Amino acid sequence: MQLLFDDELIESVVFLCASGKSPGVASLQIRRFHAERERAYSVLDPDERNAAFSRIHRAWFREWGVEQCLLSALAEFPILEKSVHAAAFRTARRKNEEGAELYVNAAGERHAIVAVRSERFADRQSLLAFLRHELMHVSDMVAPAFGYSREMGEAGQTASQLRVVRERYRLLWDITIDGRLTRSNRCTVAAFEERRSEFDRAYGFLDAAKRSAVFDSHWNAVQPRHRDLILLASDPRRLNASNLPVPGAPCPLCDFATFEWAELRALKSETANAIQKDFPGWTVEQGACFRCAEIYEAARGLELPPTVCL
Ligand SMILES: [Zn+2]
Ligand SMILES: [Zn+2]
Repeated sequence: MQLLFDDELIESVVFLCASGKSPGVASLQIRRFHAERERAYSVLDPDERNAAFSRIHRAWFREWGVEQCLLSALAEFPILEKSVHAAAFRTARRKNEEGAELYVNAAGERHAIVAVRSERFADRQSLLAFLRHELMHVSDMVAPAFGYSREMGEAGQTASQLRVVRERYRLLWDITIDGRLTRSNRCTVAAFEERRSEFDRAYGFLDAAKRSAVFDSHWNAVQPRHRDLILLASDPRRLNASNLPVPGAPCPLCDFATFEWAELRALKSETANAIQKDFPGWTVEQGACFRCAEIYEAARGLELPPTVCL
C-alpha cells in the first residue's frame, strides 16, 4: 500500500506542533525547526525554495511522530494493506468535510482518502479514535463479508426518502463500528450511550422493546453486512407492523443471526407441521428465517425430508 500525505496537511500539522499545541514537542526542536525555515527563505529560486520548505516540513512531520501515528492506525486494519493500492491523508477545513472515502480508478485500483482537520493532531488520543472509526468504514468497504455496494435500497424512492435512508444507513453502520471498536477495548468517536440516544431519535417510531433489541443486535454485531443495514434503513416500519422477531436475533431452527424473517402469515400450515416434526417445541410465533422456511417449503413440495444427513 502506497502512503500519501498532502503538503497542506503536513505543513499545517507541523506548524501546530511548532506552536506548542501538540504534546511531546521539545522547545529546542521548535527552535531548530524555525532556524531551518529561516535558512530556506534565503534560497533565491522560488521552486527550489518551496522544495526546501517541503523537505523540512516532511522531516519534522516524521520526527514529531505524526506519520507514525497515522501508520499505526492503518496497521490496525490488516485487510487494507492487501486490498487498498494507496492510502492518502488530506486536509479538511470543516468538520463536515472530514471522513474516509474509497475510490476505484480506471485500472480497478482502490484508493482510500482520509480527510482530517489539522486541529485534531493537537490531541493524539482523539485523533486515533477518529482514524479508527473512519478506517473501519474503509475496511468494511473492502471486506467481502460486508458486501459493500453503492446501491442504496430500492429504486423508485424520492430524493428526500433516499436522504433519510442514507442517514439511517450511516447511523446503523456507525453503531456497528463503534460497537466493534469498544468491544475490542479501542477508543472510538462515540460511546454506547451516545449512539443509543441517536438511534432512539432516528427510530422513535419503534416500541421501546424492539428499539432496544435492534440497537443491541447492531452494537454487538460481529460481522455486519451492507444488505442487512440497507434493509433496516429503507423499510424499518415493517418491524412495527409484524410480530416477527427482531432483526439480528437467532433463528430458532438454524441458530444463525437473522435479518430476514419469513412472513408468518404466508407460512402454509403443512410447512409449519413439517417444522414441528423436526422441532417439537417450536411454535409459529417464534418465527423462522427466510432460508429455513424456504427449505421446509421446498421439501414439502418434493415430499422429501427437509434435512438429509449423509
Ligand atoms: Zn462513521
Ligand atoms: Zn433459520
